[in-house]
Amino acid sequence: MARRRIIAGNWKMNKTPSEAVALCNELKDLVKNDAVDVVYCVPAIDIVPVAEAVKGTNVHVGAENFYIEDKGAFTGEISAPMLKEAGVEYVIIGHSERRDIFGENDILINQKVKKAFASGLTPIMCCGESLALRKAGTYKEWIARQIKWDLTDITADQVKTLVIAYEPIWAIGTGETATADQAEEVCKMIREIIADLYDQATADAVRIQYGGSMNAANAAELLSKPNIDGGLIGGASLKADFGQIVNA
Ligand code: PEP
Repeated sequence: MARRRIIAGNWKMNKTPSEAVALCNELKDLVKNDAVDVVYCVPAIDIVPVAEAVKGTNVHVGAENFYIEDKGAFTGEISAPMLKEAGVEYVIIGHSERRDIFGENDILINQKVKKAFASGLTPIMCCGESLALRKAGTYKEWIARQIKWDLTDITADQVKTLVIAYEPIWAIGTGETATADQAEEVCKMIREIIADLYDQATADAVRIQYGGSMNAANAAELLSKPNIDGGLIGGASLKADFGQIVNA
């Protein structure tokens, strides 16, 4: 089954609003590709100016985080209705930096996946193992557990529209990429887990990205693998290289 490629930038805590608009303008012609879904997941304060800057282009806007309530006394948080009104379509959930630095667990991540779907946002749901788990050889069990927890009570129809990002933590921001074979091994396993939890049609539809030091030089090989449907890109999404990844 042909799945549409999705290349998403995770800008993390980079770019002031004016810098964000400048980056959109710099990348505008470089990321043109009607065969690919291109997404910029940007800091909350950049969402409105970025949505304005990419209007009329092929770029979709994503958020990096949100909270599960619509409104109220949740100082510092941002809600799904706020994101929707600002033009956001995708939201990253369960990134390893949110898990490790901000203490998010799979219960909250599952609540966020549910809330995103209920709000009409497409989750980019992240999973991945630490270097210790990779070395111990228990990474497959770990990732399987993450997927099962994070998808509790999520329906097959929802999973068909989901994006899962496999991001080995040891490859994020380190310059060390999983080899294309290592990435494919886990992305294939994730698809098999979805087939077990749901059915083959759902597994065939779900889009699975690789993330972890993907760049202009290694993107084509990673993206050539049958179970890798795209990339979640940190560092290289902040420069012209992102255009080369979109067109790899
Ligand atoms: C990320 O944090 O989602 C990521 C993939 O970062 P990088 O590309 O910088 O490794």
